[in-house]
Amino acid sequence: MEKPLILVVEDDSAVRNLITTTLRTQDYRYQTASGGEAAVAEAASHNPDVILLDLGLPDLDGVEVIRRIRSWSKTPIIVISARSEDTDKIDALDAGADDYLTKPFSVEELLARLRVTFRRLRDAGETSQSAVFSSGGLKIDYANGCVYAEGKEVHLTPIEYRLLCLLARNAGKVLTHTYITNEIWGNAWDNTVASLRVFMATLRKKIEENPSEPKYIQTHVGVGYRMMKI
Ligand code: CA
Repeated sequence: MEKPLILVVEDDSAVRNLITTTLRTQDYRYQTASGGEAAVAEAASHNPDVILLDLGLPDLDGVEVIRRIRSWSKTPIIVISARSEDTDKIDALDAGADDYLTKPFSVEELLARLRVTFRRLRDAGETSQSAVFSSGGLKIDYANGCVYAEGKEVHLTPIEYRLLCLLARNAGKVLTHTYITNEIWGNAWDNTVASLRVFMATLRKKIEENPSEPKYIQTHVGVGYRMMKI
């Protein structure tokens, strides 16, 4: 099988070289772009498997790049942002990015994010079609609306169940607070992020062995949550 093709969009040549050197060590194929317009053009002509996208680009805002690419493509996009661009990172996820890396990041982090993304791509067909979700000792039987943790059935409230299913259907992808609260409650209610935290805490108590060190649902502080496939 041909190695995955990764489009690296980064205007800082030092960071770009770090990324491409890392990709070479893993035999990934890659292409590079140093601006937003070029990124959109490359994405359209080469149809990469994954896009690594710096948010701070000289010609076009990274979030705009995501919107344009998302108008025709579902290719996973991992955003690379500086800490000062935290709100941009959330806008990027809401615009359709799948994950993010914050600068400075390590080579190991970059490779771990790519593995999560490739795993999600592999599982994508199965995840959307399957009647059952499983990750480690967690199992959701969608057809019967039952959830099992470490072999025991757990009883969830309707909102906890919808929350769990939403995360599971998007396993591997970071979902922002805004996205989750819109999906669960619509945007009609003010205290939704605070409510989300409360429901997440009760959900974790039911499915996690150690709720203070959750293994199924990761917290991304100030951003959102992600279901892990383990
Ligand atoms: Ca930049």
